[in-house]
Amino acid sequence: MSHAIALHGGAGTIAPELLTPELEKAYLHGLDLAIYAGNKILLANGTATEAVAAAVIELENYPLFNAGKGAVFNHVGKHEMDAAIMQGIDLMAGTVAGVKNIKNPILLAQAVMTQSAHVMMAGDGAEAFAKSVGIEFADDDYFYTEQRYKQWLDLKDSSNYQLDHSANPGNKMGTVGAVALDSFGNIAAATSTGGMTNKQFGRIGDSPVIGAGTYANNHTCAISCTGHGELFLRAVVAYDISCLMEYKGLSLKEACNIVVMDKLVKIGGEGGLVAIDAKGNIEMPFNSEGMYRASINMAGEKTFGIYK
Ligand code: ASP
Repeated sequence: MSHAIALHGGAGTIAPELLTPELEKAYLHGLDLAIYAGNKILLANGTATEAVAAAVIELENYPLFNAGKGAVFNHVGKHEMDAAIMQGIDLMAGTVAGVKNIKNPILLAQAVMTQSAHVMMAGDGAEAFAKSVGIEFADDDYFYTEQRYKQWLDLKDSSNYQLDHSANPGNKMGTVGAVALDSFGNIAAATSTGGMTNKQFGRIGDSPVIGAGTYANNHTCAISCTGHGELFLRAVVAYDISCLMEYKGLSLKEACNIVVMDKLVKIGGEGGLVAIDAKGNIEMPFNSEGMYRASINMAGEKTFGIYK
């Protein structure tokens, strides 16, 4: 095979003792739908960009993951979502921040990349642009899931906002993302998220920020992150990995290890990422208790994982 793909459903995993066999099956099924959708495109000689978008759409439509349908509630009880897509062949990128009622934020990010002269759009302006290019909207009910509502009820009267703290039994969430290498030798990355439960409205995380939560460059790597966004922003995680490869000549594995297992840990940046390079090497490091993840490597071997 000349292609490969990896994806994540968030670094904030449910506490192992609460993962019933049914729930485990449901999470793995969601990951499987997504890896299948992405890989199908790669098998048919589609592009890495198309593949990561297809994988992320599946994850956005799957209520267990914190993106699209399963997006968490912010402090005022709304769903504000962030998404980004980037392709390594020409460094083209599109991102959206703080958008509401967009059924698949990744499609809007893709439209920003392909149908506008801009890279990043936020809030009302992004939604107006979405209307102008025919992106599908969904009403608030679509984004209501009982699980997310309960998570929010636990937090809404506080100023706390939360990542997927495994210590907090009810709080399962996670950004989603994918990276891929296509048969033309190009790589791409996509990330989509509802952010963190009970976040201040208007708060934007790392996911839609090129270089922080999402990055792709054929000369180095494609990365999609998940974790405590504030720390991932400050550590410029995705671009830092790319720089370690570009300027220091490190391998994907070495660069990922330094950033996720050392630099992020030192500043308390809980989370992980999926990464691929143009040779098809895949890395899925995380410093949290778990990270929902799946991959299909160049040899066609499929893997799934939740915990270490
Ligand atoms: N990184 C995301 C954010 O901070 C959250 C997550 O990955 O779970 O918005």
